[in-house]
Amino acid sequence: MAEKVVIVGSGPAGWTAAIYCARANLQPLVYEGAITEENRMKGTLPLGQLALTTEVENYPGFPAGKLFQFLESALPPERQPYWVQDKAAPPGHGVTGPELVDLMRQQAVNFGTRIITDDIAEVDFSRRPFKVKSLEGEVTEAMAVIIATGARANYLGLPSEDNFKNRGVSACAVCDGALPRFRNKPLVVVGGGDSAVEEATYLSKFASEVYLVHRRDKLRASKIMQDRALSNPKIKPCWNSAVNEVVGNDQDGVTGVKLAGLNGTVGRDLPASGMFVAIGHTPNTDFLQGKLELEANGYIRWTKPFRTWTSVEGVFAAGDVADHYYKQAVTAAGSGCMAALDAERWLAEQGEL
Ligand code: NAP
Repeated sequence: MAEKVVIVGSGPAGWTAAIYCARANLQPLVYEGAITEENRMKGTLPLGQLALTTEVENYPGFPAGKLFQFLESALPPERQPYWVQDKAAPPGHGVTGPELVDLMRQQAVNFGTRIITDDIAEVDFSRRPFKVKSLEGEVTEAMAVIIATGARANYLGLPSEDNFKNRGVSACAVCDGALPRFRNKPLVVVGGGDSAVEEATYLSKFASEVYLVHRRDKLRASKIMQDRALSNPKIKPCWNSAVNEVVGNDQDGVTGVKLAGLNGTVGRDLPASGMFVAIGHTPNTDFLQGKLELEANGYIRWTKPFRTWTSVEGVFAAGDVADHYYKQAVTAAGSGCMAALDAERWLAEQGEL
């Protein structure tokens, strides 16, 4: 028998959709992704981008700083999350990305969500019930599908960059920029788009200076954001430059970068306690090519204003896979809720509930 709802993806959008679908008695089945070396290298393991970050200080309800003490004093022992008891964690520690998304997963399970740890490799949306086929070849039929496969940050692809991920190399200034290790230290931002100038401007609040490393001599970012960044005395552009090595050690993490000069510019070494890569994201939509309408940049197109509908009726999209603009855990969770409500209402209209 066909599932009522299959959810593909396991970040905040997927789990929020699952929590809402489960509570609406839709018995959701989540394909949370496969644990493969290929997915590890691409940054697409189960639990999404949150699982790749350190502390999360901007998700409402999870104040950093005194979280442990707060939860210990506010909740009876049986209601405390398991990590409150983790005495090895340093005091003042806020919730981490992996903890946060694990808790979301658990919340979905508590309401009866079923989970398969595999990727969806192929879909057939040409007729209903829809068919989704996993990497292992299992075919599942579904009356409605919610796609929440997220996006992955693009990195430069240097071995030294990989080595220092979460130890100074990050692709999210809003997530990681305020960490103590970056305070009053020089930082590097790579890229020339709106994200790069926005991240550089944001980081200038914490850093002693921010080197904005761009491969050309012109930014792609919007004029107003460029002007703001370039008139900021802490932001130092490094034009026609490419990072060709991240330098550091086990104790301190990143300590600097080596720049190659492009277009006749001379290379140089920069001191930095962190490198923020802002060279765009790639949505995880490879398996949807030709099956759903995608934007020119590969993101799923929402076809109704303020709704999570896609070009195929009965297929909904939530989170970063359909959002290249906000890209936050809390906005992904919000749209996961919207997709669940959209799916529930649509199924009811079809007489499927
Ligand atoms: P983007 O506009 O695609 O810019 C990516 C930047 O990274 C470009 O400057 C590009 O250089 C550079 N780049 C790409 N690959 C590179 C590589 N391998 N090595 C070095 N540099 C590389 O991406 P984005 O800045 O993430 O923005 C995505 C979308 O979100 C845009 O539509 C943007 O307007 C929007 N956004 C808006 C805001 C806002 O309005 N507040 C904030 C963030 C993002 P080239 O310029 O040479 O191609």
